[in-house]
Amino acid sequence: MSKSITSTLSSSFIKAEATRLGFAACGIANARTVEPKVQEAYERWIASGHQAQMAYMNRNLDLRYHPDLLLPGCRTIISLALDYTPTERIAPDHPQIAFYVYGPDYHDVMKARIRELAKAIFKSSEHSDYSEYSELEGGRFRVAVDTAPMLERYWAEKSGIGWIGRHRNLIVPGCGSFVFLGELLLTTDVDQYDSPIPNRCDTCHRCIDACPTGALSQSSEENKLEEASFDARRCLSYLTIEHRGPFTPEQADIVRNQPTPRYIYGCDRCQLACPHNNRVYKANTPYKPHDTNTPFQASPRLTSMTATDWATLTREQYQELFRGSAVKRAKYEGLMRNIETICSLNECK
Ligand code: SF4
Ligand code: SF4
Repeated sequence: MSKSITSTLSSSFIKAEATRLGFAACGIANARTVEPKVQEAYERWIASGHQAQMAYMNRNLDLRYHPDLLLPGCRTIISLALDYTPTERIAPDHPQIAFYVYGPDYHDVMKARIRELAKAIFKSSEHSDYSEYSELEGGRFRVAVDTAPMLERYWAEKSGIGWIGRHRNLIVPGCGSFVFLGELLLTTDVDQYDSPIPNRCDTCHRCIDACPTGALSQSSEENKLEEASFDARRCLSYLTIEHRGPFTPEQADIVRNQPTPRYIYGCDRCQLACPHNNRVYKANTPYKPHDTNTPFQASPRLTSMTATDWATLTREQYQELFRGSAVKRAKYEGLMRNIETICSLNECK
């Protein structure tokens, strides 16, 4: 018979386990309904149309706002950040792809590590039977890595692991914004919950200045919580990854007219400009990721891809180059659409 897990969990144990598993940050929030002002801000952004074709963002609003609809009886949300800063970058005179797809698909890596954390938590719980751990998923815990409709940056802020910068990414102090986020939802309480930390963007606007397309704009104090300052329709990351089908002439101009080095998949410019990513920004020389065992490294083949290599990439080469990678999201046709929009055999940097 299944034993119930009634004890309050130790937050220090959870954080020590998260560190052991290689997470750059771990914070714990009480799983309350999302604040009304955040719900209203989110819906204003959706109504503005700035989310472009990402219709899924307008679905399941109830689930987004109420964690206990994602996991009945949810009491606790553990936010986890995993550093994906690569040690080797694609040379600056070659076409670029975003850091987050340098290595293996982060969904698989994050989910496996978060399940390891869940296993450690239930193994340590004196009232649980460790052998039943896997049966607890969906009932006592749930793992989310882009797989559940959650406001993950909101929960990351609530759990105190960082703040949402003007480039709309979460910044983890001492680590930066090149982090994947994931959540572990639990039906159990912990002995100590975390509080948000102050936003440290202050008067900085380097990310806004670095954006070549005008996708970012200065947010006022009042709308700091909302996405009003981000227009996905003008963002190279959105256009080269999420947009389906051919580009309109205006979209093609945005993608084509970016400064060199040009991004053929994603865009990291606003994050690279951020002083909280200084260890990346200053380095054309080797630098160390926070997690020195990070699996998110590009293969030598990927870092040496030239403009000609990209322009002549066959479907078979694509399959080989991105085996197990999140680039598959855009599919071969999507990647080649980007490349053909930007590159000719003689001119593509
Ligand atoms: S990812 Fe690139 S295009 Fe999008 S907001 Fe940042 S700098 Fe601008
Ligand atoms: S560049 Fe400046 S304003 Fe933008 S996210 Fe970083 S600290 Fe904040």
